[in-house]
Amino acid sequence: MFKKILIANRGEIALRVQRACREMGIKAVMVYSEADRDAKYIRLADEAVCIGPAPSGLSYLSMPAIISAAEVTDAEAIHPGYGFLSENADFAERVEKSGFTFIGPTPESIRLMGDKVSAKQAMIRAGVPCVPGSEGALPADAAVIKRTAKAVGYPVIIKAAGGGGGRGMRVVHTEAALLHAVQTTKAEAGAAFGNPEVYMEKFLQNPRHIEIQVMADTHRNAVYLGERDCSMQRRHQKVIEEAPAPGIPRRLIEKIGDRCAAACKKIGYRGAGTFEFLFENGEFYFIEMNTRVQVEHPVTEWITGVDIVRTQIAVAAGEKLPFTQRQVQLRGHAIECRINAEDAYKFTPSPGRITAWHTPGGPGVRVDSHAYANYVVPPNYDSMIGKIIVHGDTREQALARMRTALAETVIEGIKTNIPLHRELMVDASFVAGGTNIHYLEEWLSQRER
Ligand code: ADP
Repeated sequence: MFKKILIANRGEIALRVQRACREMGIKAVMVYSEADRDAKYIRLADEAVCIGPAPSGLSYLSMPAIISAAEVTDAEAIHPGYGFLSENADFAERVEKSGFTFIGPTPESIRLMGDKVSAKQAMIRAGVPCVPGSEGALPADAAVIKRTAKAVGYPVIIKAAGGGGGRGMRVVHTEAALLHAVQTTKAEAGAAFGNPEVYMEKFLQNPRHIEIQVMADTHRNAVYLGERDCSMQRRHQKVIEEAPAPGIPRRLIEKIGDRCAAACKKIGYRGAGTFEFLFENGEFYFIEMNTRVQVEHPVTEWITGVDIVRTQIAVAAGEKLPFTQRQVQLRGHAIECRINAEDAYKFTPSPGRITAWHTPGGPGVRVDSHAYANYVVPPNYDSMIGKIIVHGDTREQALARMRTALAETVIEGIKTNIPLHRELMVDASFVAGGTNIHYLEEWLSQRER
């Protein structure tokens, strides 16, 4: 096992990985920008290295700064967390070339999945069902584009091969709007992702977002750890996640889960990963794979009893997966609310000093957060300051526990989205379960009126 790991991230996930290291007897090296200098998890670290000023381009995204931090501290491996460099194949490659272990898949896997066109082609080859659409990237020929759209059937969605974070997508309802949409998306994709390639998919009208968590080792073992329902989204950003997905028959999950695990073996995947699907009319359609730990991993940890971060570290050190598919048993129901420093309804960021901080507790409640009273939320990064996760024997119990947990929570000095979560936890449709990916935005727009 590693003796020392460098954690190339910040905030709650940096603390989450630090905790896993502690538990495993591994020393944790934290890196931080000047904006995070005073964070408690930095002070708690075995070692900490300042890697640059507040803008992430000069710190958390600086490959040379992170790799030299690993060199000066003699770390053996680098955990990238999520976001920042976690899905950057060049970074993974530079980490390995510099003699460190990258806690994640190979650079080849990251590259294959990072390009949505190649990812989709690999999934089709591996027998994973995909959204019907263009075969690969769209060509320049206008007639071919029109013919493809006609065959797929309107509405279609034009998506950037290099897209991510919900950006680089455009829905097209008519042939009249098609070519212009393709050109605009191409131009935007070229500017934003350095890759102008776009592809076409059928635009599914009312799908749910269901994802399968996988875990693979370097000994050709791959398992899936059930599913998560992340349909409660705003601007393609997840707000609430839960596991299992309400109302989806287990046999459908098992079938798609087996396909995902088999695809991992086929592409030589290692570490944690997530296959994201849209689910409509009883069918799964692959949209993309995330080659890293996800924000919402705790709901899966809670229903499976598997520590995903710990397992990531173990398989990166060459250990075999400590469980087989048959040993993965699901228990109860888990729900996660992302806590953001933002206005609960206008969604404007609300950085600043937290003057009061009281987190909930009791049976079945977990809080993953790096924040505390007097912590200053820097304005430079994502607004998520933590997550409240609950578990219950049933979904009803989990909902009740989340309501209690949210009622107990006190955060003052900054605005948070807790009032939004409190309302959603008693909303009849959410409580019934199975809302689709548009539900939250529709709910919000009606609320405004
Ligand atoms: P990103 O990497 O930017 O998150 P995804 O491919 O995962 O992009 O898509 C993000 C979101 O966009 C999905 O969760 C879904 O809400 C919507 N979306 C993507 N593809 C389609 C599609 N074919 N039909 C309907 N909605 C889609």
